[in-house]
Amino acid sequence: MILDLFKLDGKVALVTGSNTGLGQGICKAYVEAGAKVVGVSRRPSTETAEMLGENFYNVIADLSTTDVIPRIIEEAVAKFGRIDILVNNAGIIKRQDSIEFSEENWDSVMNVNLKTVFFLTQAVGQQFIKQHSGGKIINIASMLSFQGGIRVPSYAAAKSGVRAITMSLANEWAKYGVNVNAIAPGYMATNNTQALRQDEERSADILARIPAGRWGTPADLEGAAVYLASAASDYVNGFTIAVDGGWLGR
Ligand code: NAP
Repeated sequence: MILDLFKLDGKVALVTGSNTGLGQGICKAYVEAGAKVVGVSRRPSTETAEMLGENFYNVIADLSTTDVIPRIIEEAVAKFGRIDILVNNAGIIKRQDSIEFSEENWDSVMNVNLKTVFFLTQAVGQQFIKQHSGGKIINIASMLSFQGGIRVPSYAAAKSGVRAITMSLANEWAKYGVNVNAIAPGYMATNNTQALRQDEERSADILARIPAGRWGTPADLEGAAVYLASAASDYVNGFTIAVDGGWLGR
């Protein structure tokens, strides 16, 4: 039956940035679809753990460095025995005029949003191959994987890079039964966009351009996240799906 293809029973997902926002919503959706979830966060994912009980395990790690990657894999496999799904969701944004954009604002965003994404994906890819299992990688991209944005050059560069490595890895790993895809959320009401939503002028401009007429929510992303983690998407490789209320179509 078609709906059975979307089930994640028996699967183990690793989701970064599990304490809040889009990552928390994805953790909840995966458990509802039948998976066990290892959430990675730099602060304890207390609320997520309370919501999801024994189907959730929290690894505390700061993803601004790749040093933490071996421990993340070890703890995940020790807890639930395997990894089937990786969601690279953790991300930061730094806003500053490009004319004076600092090296710190460049490096911090590139490290979390692109470098660690690549090397964590590489480590999980190695785990998939070791398991002879195939697997699903889902990168959280952005509208700025397609557009330049304003005052966020490192974020636009990193998220465009995320879309590029999604295609690169899909090309190399489809032969192992590994699907690498991305989701580009539109403008979603989370901590990431708090400053933007508080800027009355920018907020009104953005809202006026969204065909759906509203900001997105973590719940809006859950369907695409489950689809790309499930057997329903087995022949989808290297693509970035926009969940944006129609933003990119304008
Ligand atoms: P959010 O609420 O700010 O969540 C970001 C998550 O990443 C948080 O869990 C955060 O932890 C975590 N994180 C940041 N730096 C980290 C680090 N060094 N180590 C470990 N975890 C770290 O924003 P969100 O909207 O849910 O963002 C999730 C993803 O969606 C990001 O990749 C973002 O770029 C992307 N995105 C968001 C939007 C949007 O409109 N909201 C649009 C397009 C793409 P802390 O809570 O400890 O900071």
